[in-house]
Amino acid sequence: MILKIGVIGTGMIGRDHTRRIQQVLAGAKVVALADYSVDAAKAVQADLAPDATVYETGQELIAANTVDAVLVCSTGATHEDYVLAAIEAGKPVFCEKPLATTAEGAKRIVDAEIAAGKRLVQVGFMRRYDTGYVALKDAVENHTGAPIMVHAAHRNPTVPEQYVTPMAIHDTFVHEIDVFRWLLDDDYVSARVTFPRTCAASHAKLRDPQIVTLTTAKGVVINTEIYVNCKYGYDIQCQIVGEDGVAYLPEPQAITMRLNAKRQNEILTDWKDRFVASYDVELQDFINAAAEGTASGPSSWDGYMAAVTCDACVAAQESDGSAVTITNPERPALYS
Ligand code: NAP
Repeated sequence: MILKIGVIGTGMIGRDHTRRIQQVLAGAKVVALADYSVDAAKAVQADLAPDATVYETGQELIAANTVDAVLVCSTGATHEDYVLAAIEAGKPVFCEKPLATTAEGAKRIVDAEIAAGKRLVQVGFMRRYDTGYVALKDAVENHTGAPIMVHAAHRNPTVPEQYVTPMAIHDTFVHEIDVFRWLLDDDYVSARVTFPRTCAASHAKLRDPQIVTLTTAKGVVINTEIYVNCKYGYDIQCQIVGEDGVAYLPEPQAITMRLNAKRQNEILTDWKDRFVASYDVELQDFINAAAEGTASGPSSWDGYMAAVTCDACVAAQESDGSAVTITNPERPALYS
């Protein structure tokens, strides 16, 4: 069976996911495209999916009989309505992060999925599919003993002028929020944010860097440095300290060169290169599960818990270094 997919939002990631469905992955093809800008959708149609139909709106695409499953790749604020419409239509839906821009919105999606009686939603937290994180999870579960502490860093070389302090949580740290819950099989109970002095490369509306401390229900303390003007590269670091040893996230493969009296390795500068393989694996997982009438990967519950944690972290940014309590609702049976 070939899964017929409709892509809503044909900007940067929607175009890239269309490319991987059409040229890299198996078992699916893009049959429909929609974007706020019809011209943008037509450009992706011309370049990558000449047989696809371009719809004026995402809602029309979701309703189309020719569409078996939906990819939501539009701007974050539009995700909730499209995911709810896909659930209403009974169609599997892959939603790029965020699931919704508020915890309340994400909860509405959870409630709709529970009412539908089956999982239909996969959220685009691709780090769970990265070979390095998969190996790290294996080390934590089978070798280094019960986790006690996590030390992590998320560094970008630079960010655009419109990137402001809360975006360090919603757009950047959200990936750590999800992947640490998954790695540790744990939930967060509090968040604290502290700010060192702001670096010279930042601007008036961005306090950079910042250090987020999350504490989990099992008592693990996670310290993450978010530094989005680090200049030197895109660098994701993580080490998990357990009862018996320490597990490190592997560095991306890079050739060591001895050159000009220096020993050196290249460091990536673009996040797309760092996680390119994991995007392929996550979407293939979505296609395989949808074709079998099931759902896999990060669920709408995970998207909801990420939204709850983001809200607490943003509140913590405004709390002068005090901890903000995170209340975890009971996990519904559908997501157990
Ligand atoms: P982008 O390049 O701005 O693309 C978004 C597209 O959606 C634009 O073409 C935009 O049109 C369109 N759009 C806006 N409102 C719409 C609506 N109501 N219906 C249909 N299309 C609409 O953004 P992007 O970088 O691709 O990001 C898209 C989403 O993917 C974001 O939620 C982002 O957080 C997420 N993302 C996730 C990852 C990841 O690592 N998992 C990476 C990148 C992006 P206009 O430009 O005309 O407004």
